[in-house]
Amino acid sequence: MNKQTIDDIIDRLPGKRVLVRVDFNVPIADGVVGDDTRLRAAIPTVKRISATGAKVILVSHLGRPKSGPEPKYSLRPVAAHFAELIGKPVAFSEDCIGLKPENTVRAMGPGDICLLENLRFHAAEERNDAEFARRLAASADIYVNDAFGSAHRAHASTEGVTKFLRIAVAGYLMEKELDFLGRLLTNPKRPLIAVLGGAKISGKLEVLKHLMKTVDVFLIGGGMAFTFLKAQGKPIGKSLCEDDLVDTARLILHDAEKNGRRILLPWDCVVAKELSSNAQQEIVAVESIPDDMAGFDIGPHTVKDFDEALQTAGTIFWNGPMGVFETPPFDEGTKAIAHSVASATDLGAVSVVGGGDSVAAIHESGVADHISHISTGGGASLEFLEGKVLPGVAALNDR
Ligand code: AMP
Repeated sequence: MNKQTIDDIIDRLPGKRVLVRVDFNVPIADGVVGDDTRLRAAIPTVKRISATGAKVILVSHLGRPKSGPEPKYSLRPVAAHFAELIGKPVAFSEDCIGLKPENTVRAMGPGDICLLENLRFHAAEERNDAEFARRLAASADIYVNDAFGSAHRAHASTEGVTKFLRIAVAGYLMEKELDFLGRLLTNPKRPLIAVLGGAKISGKLEVLKHLMKTVDVFLIGGGMAFTFLKAQGKPIGKSLCEDDLVDTARLILHDAEKNGRRILLPWDCVVAKELSSNAQQEIVAVESIPDDMAGFDIGPHTVKDFDEALQTAGTIFWNGPMGVFETPPFDEGTKAIAHSVASATDLGAVSVVGGGDSVAAIHESGVADHISHISTGGGASLEFLEGKVLPGVAALNDR
């Protein structure tokens, strides 16, 4: 990676005030933190900085508050939960700029940790307002960005703040994300297989086009597969389809063939008349989807086909569910692929999984320990793989 990390500036940290942008955007219900994966992911960076005797000032957004502070989006419960996880007190400041954080930071000793209130309680954060960025920077000497999931946004806390803090480096989570995702684009262990699913092609079109440069085999499932199947002239019944992209899908299939890339589409699928767990379901070949039914999951033949391909992989990238994961039994294809990716990893493949549903499938299938890297940033990882420059990364100091 060509960006500086904490390790490059470790000698400069003792005694300093370090502003660390983390992604603590976690689900909270009735003041209790739900899935705390994102909090755990920040621990290595926070521990390392704190161990040098620097003061650690954590900042994050939480949810989408509309105009100003809203109690349900307060980070206060997160401070308490993070303190338990890291085994140290975490002070909380009721605002992220002004006297409140200044006083909180002044009261801290070497190695102490504090969390400032939700950045998005100020609309200036998302506007990347220079004055807000200056005030955010005012209580710190050094900036560390560990919020990969927000790096595709040029906000005050991810980009603007670096104009006021000369030392701006990546945290360990950011470094790990960029390393694993970077390996997909540059010198991957071959063959590189991308498993893409989810609702629509439109959301993944750019990533598909960019990955076409490096990926050897695409395995396409989920709702997006039906637009490709329609492009091949198959009857798709009432399955999800983006009619305006059928021609684009045909072009992608054509380009792939011309460039020696393989695109594997489902052979069979699980169809039903309506999307409901109780609906009568059938497994049919994709040539025989009835007019009045829709495909809601990949079928067992396709699972076997995709699994065989995956077991030969050197590198795997997976984003997007193979079916309507939220409505069992249409989650079975996605869970089967989770197991396939895990066993391919056990055989030596490097696997990177991103996106809410695929990550959830990995956890629900109990195979998280068998995946090389589970990305914490769905949107950011897709933009990175589209070949876009992430403003929050570009703003960090070069090596
Ligand atoms: P995305 O955000 O594009 O990754 O899409 C995720 C959504 O795709 C999930 O909510 C799934 O329910 C949906 N999805 C996956 N497969 C299908 C399908 N065959 N038909 C309709 N929706 C699907």
